[in-house]
Amino acid sequence: MTDDGALSQAEQKMQFLYHLRSKGVTDKRVLEAMEAIDRGPFVKGIFTDRAYEDMPLPIACGQTISQPSVVGLMSQALNITPRDKVLEVGTGSGYQAAILAKLARRVYTVDRHRRLVREARDIFDAFDLHNITAITGDGSFGLPDQAPFDKIIVTAAAEDPPGPLLAQLKMGGIMVVPVGQSDAVQSLIRVHKTESGLEYDEMRDVRFVPLLEGLGKDS
Ligand code: SAH
Repeated sequence: MTDDGALSQAEQKMQFLYHLRSKGVTDKRVLEAMEAIDRGPFVKGIFTDRAYEDMPLPIACGQTISQPSVVGLMSQALNITPRDKVLEVGTGSGYQAAILAKLARRVYTVDRHRRLVREARDIFDAFDLHNITAITGDGSFGLPDQAPFDKIIVTAAAEDPPGPLLAQLKMGGIMVVPVGQSDAVQSLIRVHKTESGLEYDEMRDVRFVPLLEGLGKDS
């Protein structure tokens, strides 16, 4: 602790990682990625000093950066290997994409707000992350030109797992997606594509902003 009783940055970081473990984020590679990627730069304005708290926070365009423990659990559920090509729908602040970039070979991330994509790209550059391609578009249609993907993560809530995304998932691939009515509590679903069909398992309740059609007003 510093003289005024505030936690030093190193202490805050240790607490952050300890908390993630207590919430069930135990995968070593995921914890290392979350240690390497500081959440601070992804949170702007008056909320910066709350970047290390385990809560979603407001970002531009009326969106939110997800809660770190949920980012950790979703990353872990994807079981990403260093050879994987991953698609994220819902770039938002870029925080989740930056963590995926530490785990995967290549990450494509799509958001319907051009401004969010632009700001996220600047942070990826600042972190020297050169294996992320950030694209403005309606991600519910996926990226047919880059498909198929080993793993897909949707960080906005859909009423059902979007069909085009399921189609763009490789055999043996995993998709994680919050499913449910936009305002209510949603269920985080893990879909595994197997030779005998799609296997679904429910992970936990979550609350995400809705997956919307078309581009954002600023785009
Ligand atoms: N993963 C983000 C948080 C995402 S918030 C992070 O780490 O900060 C959800 C994001 O999904 C918002 O930025 C919203 O603009 C985006 N979104 C909603 N519907 C979308 C769609 N159809 N295609 C692409 N992005 C969408």
